[in-house]
Amino acid sequence: MQKQMVSRREFIQRTSVTGVGAALTLGAVSPARANPLQDTETPALLGGKPVRSKGWPEWPIWNPKTDEERVIEVLRSGVWSRAGVVKEFENKWANLIGTKRCLGTTNGTHALITALRALDIGAGDEVLTTPYTFIATIDAILMRNAMPIFVDVDRETFQIDANKLEEKITPNTKAILPVHILGLPADMPAINAVAKKHNLAVVEDCCQAWLAEINHQRMGSFGDAGCFSFQNSKNIPIGEGGAIVSDDDHLMDKAYSFHNFGRPHGSVQGSGYVMAGTKCRMAEYQAAIGLAQMERLEEQTKLRNENAAYLSEQLREIPGITPHRLFNGTTQAAYHLYPFRYDPAAFQGLSRGKFISAARGEGVPCSGGYSPINAMPYLQEAFSSKVFRNSYPAEALDFENYKERNQCPENDQLTREAVWMFHNLLLGNQQDMDDIVKAIAKIQRHAGELV
Ligand SMILES: *Cc1c(COP(=O)(O)O)cnc(C)c1O
Repeated sequence: MQKQMVSRREFIQRTSVTGVGAALTLGAVSPARANPLQDTETPALLGGKPVRSKGWPEWPIWNPKTDEERVIEVLRSGVWSRAGVVKEFENKWANLIGTKRCLGTTNGTHALITALRALDIGAGDEVLTTPYTFIATIDAILMRNAMPIFVDVDRETFQIDANKLEEKITPNTKAILPVHILGLPADMPAINAVAKKHNLAVVEDCCQAWLAEINHQRMGSFGDAGCFSFQNSKNIPIGEGGAIVSDDDHLMDKAYSFHNFGRPHGSVQGSGYVMAGTKCRMAEYQAAIGLAQMERLEEQTKLRNENAAYLSEQLREIPGITPHRLFNGTTQAAYHLYPFRYDPAAFQGLSRGKFISAARGEGVPCSGGYSPINAMPYLQEAFSSKVFRNSYPAEALDFENYKERNQCPENDQLTREAVWMFHNLLLGNQQDMDDIVKAIAKIQRHAGELV
């Protein structure tokens, strides 16, 4: 399925729904009009013929023939609130991830909040996490009135640096919230070892890491709980949707109770309402869409991995392009995004922004990804909130000191050098991957003219 070039309006509409918070293009962004007389060597931005003028596989994929029967059945049944279809989705998802239990939720953010609640993470607690993530990770910690503590990243893998966890641990540290960002697995064996030594809970943010694995064990099954998102842009798109997985029955019963107004569930017993709860139940039509999307996930994931491996092999040869590294033992990544690091010095000083524009001009959409979120105004706003002022000692609320303690220079550097491509590009064939390589090599040859 090839997507035609998208109109600007459609482009804006589509990018505004990405769940990762950065502008990404799903198709090609109007490269200079293909003219047979144009030469192919001049950069497209300077009037040459773009390497590629056709689009990329569209996302999300929806096939009315195979995908709509269950959805229509749900719509016509009148049973739209949580019931059997959600349970079926949960059973299948737990099976795929390899955990005992799964609980569907409205979205990934609420999955994270619910998992933290089930582990009794709250006001006065510190949670270690990565600054290289989507804001929802940090929001979930703050919605529990806990304090996010940022651990610097390892730029080669784009993931939290497990070697830097211990130096951030204080008597108030209660949990580690690793994120398998971009769909590449974080170093879970190392993270779990630190958690075990210091008796910390582990909640995995798997909101970009469906079916990613280390030594054939899937992300979400390493921690006390794993949280997934099925938002529109994600690799299993439902529009909105989320899930928590775990092997811990009591934890999952608490999560269930919390997500259902605090009603008793399983080992959470009593009459009436037994805990202060919320309501973030997955709906039947969400589950019906999810069941259809789940059918494609394994095959697409394999294809993304094959194409990513090929792309890394080729891109490695271009000076100034450093493909991401996967941790030892990684047997599969999810590749929500395909990342590499860009060095302007090898491109005659061509800035990353101009490189990205040039790549888009050649018909290869990409973006610069995340900005540092450990230095944005929402943190100070949270620190000045009533609940923070009532929950933390004055020293802990010294914002200058907090900022100092939470500096992450490696992450700052990573946010300047990262380049991402959206996962739909990895659903093409080898010639499509060759187009990406050709476009970047062409920009490299002509960097001096584009500066
Ligand atoms: C998408 C995402 C979330 C939030 O999921 P929603 O379903 O959009 O609420 C959380 N963390 C990360 C890393 C994400 O990419």
